[in-house]
This record gives sequence, structure tokens and C-alpha cells, in this order.
Amino acid sequence: MKNFMSEAMAQARLSVLQNEVPVGAILVENEKIIAAAHNQNISASDPTAHAEIQVLRQAATLKNSPRLDGCDLYVTLEPCAMCAAAISLARIRRVYYAASDPKFGAVENGVRFFSSTSCHHHPEIYSGIAQEESRLLLREFFKSKRK
Ligand SMILES: [Zn+2]
Repeated sequence: MKNFMSEAMAQARLSVLQNEVPVGAILVENEKIIAAAHNQNISASDPTAHAEIQVLRQAATLKNSPRLDGCDLYVTLEPCAMCAAAISLARIRRVYYAASDPKFGAVENGVRFFSSTSCHHHPEIYSGIAQEESRLLLREFFKSKRK
């Protein structure tokens, strides 16, 4: 089995090179990566340029459809409320995320979007894969920012 989360981690590491918060995401369809991205809030001057939004946009363009049924998302951090809503609208089949995010996360934390009455498509959720690696990358990044 391919280790898709390690591909998402590789994307997260690319964020660091651009001084972006290290979060990476990939989208998989039929065991193949069809989109890969990392956070680009600063470089794109775009508050919505989270890794998840970027891969959803790439894949939707590729498939020429707003619906990505059957696609699975791998992301290194628990999705925020905006991304959780976008994931639901795109009808993503499964979401795999690494570290949980008590501050901005909206899956197991905060508004728990996928369990809310505003959510009409619930992906399957798998969390905790490579969470230590993701946490460490985020911790090192924020530590370097405080210097
Ligand atoms: Zn987000």
C-alpha cells in the first residue's frame, strides 16, 4: 500500500520553504494522486488558500466538475471549518488527517462540522496517521517564528 500521508507530509515541508504554515494535502482517486498542494496564504495573499482548498480546486478543474465523488483527501492537519465545509460540498469519500488542531480544527474540535445539521455529506474520517511527524513540523515552524 502506498503511503499517501507521507506525500502530504512532503507537501507540508514545501510550505516551510515558502515561510507558510506547514500543512500539506493530496487528493487520491483510484490509488493515484490527482492533486497535491500546501498552504499558500501568504504567497497567494489569499485567506482561503489552505492546502485542502487548493487540492479541491485542482481536482475539480481537472475533472471539470464541482463534485469529487470517490476521491480521498490526505491532509497533515485537522481541517478547519472552511475546509470541512468545502470537503463536504465536494463530496469527498474519505478524509485522512494527521495531527488534530484544538485551535482551528473543526472535525473533532470546535464546531465538529461533519456532525452538524448544516452538513449534508459526511466523509469517512480517519485521524492520527503520522500525527507525531506533523506535530513536530508545526512545532518547529512556530518555534522558529518566535525567535
Ligand atoms: Zn482550512
